[in-house]
Amino acid sequence: MHHFQYKGNELYAEDVAVREIVEKVGTPLYLYSHATLERHYRAMDEAFAAVPHTICYSMKANSNLAVLKTFFGLGGGVDIVSGGELYRALAAGVEPCKVVYSGVGKKDDEIEYALNTGILMFNVESEEELDRIDMIAGRLGKKAGIAIRVNPDVDPETHPYITTGLKKAKFGINIERSLEQYRRAARMANLDVMGIDCHIGSQLTKVSPFVDTIKKLKRLIEGVRESGINLRYFDLGGGLGITYSDEAPPLPAEYGAAITAETKDLGLHLLFEPGRNLVGNAGIMVAKCLYVKRGEEKNFVIVDAAMNDLARPSLYGSYHGVQAVRKDQEGVTVADIVGPICESGDFLAKDREVPSFRQGDLVAFMSAGAYGFAMSSNYNSRPRAVEVMVKGDAFVVVRDRETYGDLVRGERIPDFL
Ligand SMILES: *Cc1c(COP(=O)(O)O)cnc(C)c1O
Repeated sequence: MHHFQYKGNELYAEDVAVREIVEKVGTPLYLYSHATLERHYRAMDEAFAAVPHTICYSMKANSNLAVLKTFFGLGGGVDIVSGGELYRALAAGVEPCKVVYSGVGKKDDEIEYALNTGILMFNVESEEELDRIDMIAGRLGKKAGIAIRVNPDVDPETHPYITTGLKKAKFGINIERSLEQYRRAARMANLDVMGIDCHIGSQLTKVSPFVDTIKKLKRLIEGVRESGINLRYFDLGGGLGITYSDEAPPLPAEYGAAITAETKDLGLHLLFEPGRNLVGNAGIMVAKCLYVKRGEEKNFVIVDAAMNDLARPSLYGSYHGVQAVRKDQEGVTVADIVGPICESGDFLAKDREVPSFRQGDLVAFMSAGAYGFAMSSNYNSRPRAVEVMVKGDAFVVVRDRETYGDLVRGERIPDFL
């Protein structure tokens, strides 16, 4: 459920007409609904009400400060994957003790930054990383909280690019080698081995891969405990899917019930790293129709947003619903919706039955709150879109549209030219 609904023929974001926002800030535009963000966070939080838990929002899905602040205000923390994300999270007021740090390629300066900040723990993804963190913590005179990200070799049955928990993936430490690495970590002077972590993939539409993973990890947890290691946290990662088109992922309550049943006797504090599930349907992207090109073989609706603004369709062939901001078009057309970028891969929707858009019409791309703006780039020297948050009948620009000046900031022409 989300708060982008029609009132009469007009698409609204909560109590504001989308058209009214476009008149103020232009297109392309990312629009987030505060009520939807809050609703999704609370649904996840309530799903685990029976067990001690913390929701560490996976901020790579959408790292806008206003989005972060919304979740921090509700008691959330973050899962970060870079020093830049830590900087953003701190700027939005995160409590350091609610930060977990994942990622296969943490750099020395990033590890140092996280240790000096006092984050809860590092989710360690390789044997060498254990040594690295131990060494840096020793140098700083700190104790580093760590969990091992275990690769459980479970198939999440999702898109190959967002599958992370199979043996062939680059992520985590193989489950068969994990116990040995736990024992090794426990002997390191500057590590506090406090948790176990996994994250098997994204956009999962079933509960069973999560449950299979937990069952596998429970055997490992036993072994770790028998080795005298005091585990306190079980980080279950993120990955719960959303409805883009006709997918029917489990509701947070079902996901919560299944996981709670499997974990409640472990005596561990659960951590979750949802990304897409919290923000995906809480955002839309709005573009303006520039031209309509009718061809013999295909029709094209050319809009002022492109693959640099919303990369998912060209990157993964992903589906985003397409809706008219004002439903006054007569009839429907089968068309590709494409952007101005000089690449054939620059499409936002393919062979789609859409309202018969005309020049100047506003087009909404639904479910664009996750991996939307966050994956945007300046390709073709296109300034990145403006971001707006709506709450009730108010809306605020939460990131300015980039200017041409922004495009060349930091560049210089050498004297020898
Ligand atoms: C991307 C990622 C997530 C979030 O995945 P979603 O599918 O958006 O919930 C969580 N944890 C880790 C380690 C990730 O890389």
